[in-house]
Amino acid sequence: MRGRHKPPNCVDETIITDHINSFNPQISHYRREHAPRRRYLPPEVTIKSMFADFLLKHPGFCSYDKYRKVVQKLNISFCKLGEEECEFCLINASHKCQSTDATVNNNLNEISCRECQLIREHKSSVDTVRKLYTKDKERPWSSDYSFRSVDLQKVLMMPRLPGVKTAVFTRRLVVFHETFVPLKSLDNSVSVLWHEAISGRNAEDIASTFICAMKQEPDVSHFILWMDNCSAQNKNWVVFTAMCAFVNTELGPQSVTFKYLITGHTFMSADAFHAKVEKEIRAKKNLFDFDDLKEAVSNANKTAKVMSLEAADFQMWKSGAYRTRQQDSPLLSSLHQVRFIKGSRSMYYKLDPCGNELECNFLTKKFKLTQPVSKSVSRGIPGVKKTDIVTKLCPLMPEQKQQFWRDLTVCDVPDLIDSDDRLTVDENN
Ligand SMILES: [Zn+2]
Ligand SMILES: [Zn+2]
Repeated sequence: MRGRHKPPNCVDETIITDHINSFNPQISHYRREHAPRRRYLPPEVTIKSMFADFLLKHPGFCSYDKYRKVVQKLNISFCKLGEEECEFCLINASHKCQSTDATVNNNLNEISCRECQLIREHKSSVDTVRKLYTKDKERPWSSDYSFRSVDLQKVLMMPRLPGVKTAVFTRRLVVFHETFVPLKSLDNSVSVLWHEAISGRNAEDIASTFICAMKQEPDVSHFILWMDNCSAQNKNWVVFTAMCAFVNTELGPQSVTFKYLITGHTFMSADAFHAKVEKEIRAKKNLFDFDDLKEAVSNANKTAKVMSLEAADFQMWKSGAYRTRQQDSPLLSSLHQVRFIKGSRSMYYKLDPCGNELECNFLTKKFKLTQPVSKSVSRGIPGVKKTDIVTKLCPLMPEQKQQFWRDLTVCDVPDLIDSDDRLTVDENN
C-alpha cells in the first residue's frame, strides 16, 4: 500500500479474527478432500449475538456485513443439523452450457461438454445410492438383519449454559455422540457417548464404538450400516481391519457391510435422531455435566439405548493392511460398499453401487486377526483447559454438578477443539 494513511474502509481484520476465534469454533470431523478444514461454531451461538458482543468491545469498529465476511473468509460455519450442502452441486448450479449438443441430443453418452457429463454422472450416482438406501429402509423386518445409519453428532461442547457468555468464551470439553439408528424408525437406536478426556476420535476410537454398538444386538447375524463418506471416520484400513477381526471372533456376526452415501447428499436416520437430541438439549436448557447429556439423549427417544464409554471400552486397533497399495486393492475414495464375512480375511467391495462385488485380500499374510489391547488410561485434557472450566464455569453450576469437572483427568495432549491427536496415515491409501 502506498502512502502513510490507510484508506478509511480498510480495517484491521486481526481484531475481528481474534474476536471470532474467542468463540472457539471447533474443527469438523468431516475431512473433505481438496477442501480446507472447516470449523464450526456451536449451535448456541449466532452471528448476530457474536456481532453484538463485538460492538460492545469495539464500538463502531466495522459493519455487520464486514464482520460476517470475515467469518466466511475464515471458513467457519454455524452448526446446522441435517444435510451438509454438496460443494460439487453448488459449484455447478451456475453452469451455463455453451455446448449445443447437450440440448439437441439428449443421449447421455453423447454429450461433448465435460461439465455437463460430470453433472449428469454425479446426479445419477446420487440418485442410485439414495434408491439403494430407500430399498434397505423398506425391507421387511427380520431378526437376523440390522439396517442402521451411523454418524457422529456435530459439534457438541460442554458444559452448555445458554445465556452465560463466559461459557461460550471458555474452551469447553469436546463431547462425542456416535449414533446407530435403524433406517425404518428412530426407535431402538443405540447412542455411544464419550468425551475427549476419555478418548479421541481417531479411526481406532470409531472402530471401537462400532463394535460396542453391534454387541448390543447379539442375535443379529448381518449388520448393514449406512454412513457418510468421511475417510477419517468410516473409510480407512484401521476400521476395516477391526471389522474383519470382529466378524471372525467367536461371538461376532456373520457379516458386516458398510454402505457409503455420496458426500453432500448424506441425510440419514441418524441425522433425524441428532435433531431430536438437539431439541431435548434446548428444552433442558443447561447441560452441566455428562449425566445431563445422557439424560437429554435418553429423552430424545425412550427406547434409545444410551451407553457411555470408559477408556477400557476403547481398543487400540491398528491397520493390518499392506503399507503399499497392492495390485488388486481399490482406492479407498472409489469404494461404494465394503463387506466383511466370517471365515474370510478378505474385504468384498463395490466400485459401482449396483455392480458386482469384488474381493481383495487386504491384510498382510503375517497379520493376526486377534483382539488388540484396550486403553488402560483415559486420554485426559490439557491442564489449562480444566483449570479454566473449574474456575470460570463451576461456580455457575449447582454443587453436585461440579464434581464431574474436578474429576477430569489432566494430560499433556492437544485440545480437540482445534486439533487432532494425529492425522491418520492410512487416511488416503
Ligand atoms: Zn451433489
Ligand atoms: Zn455443459
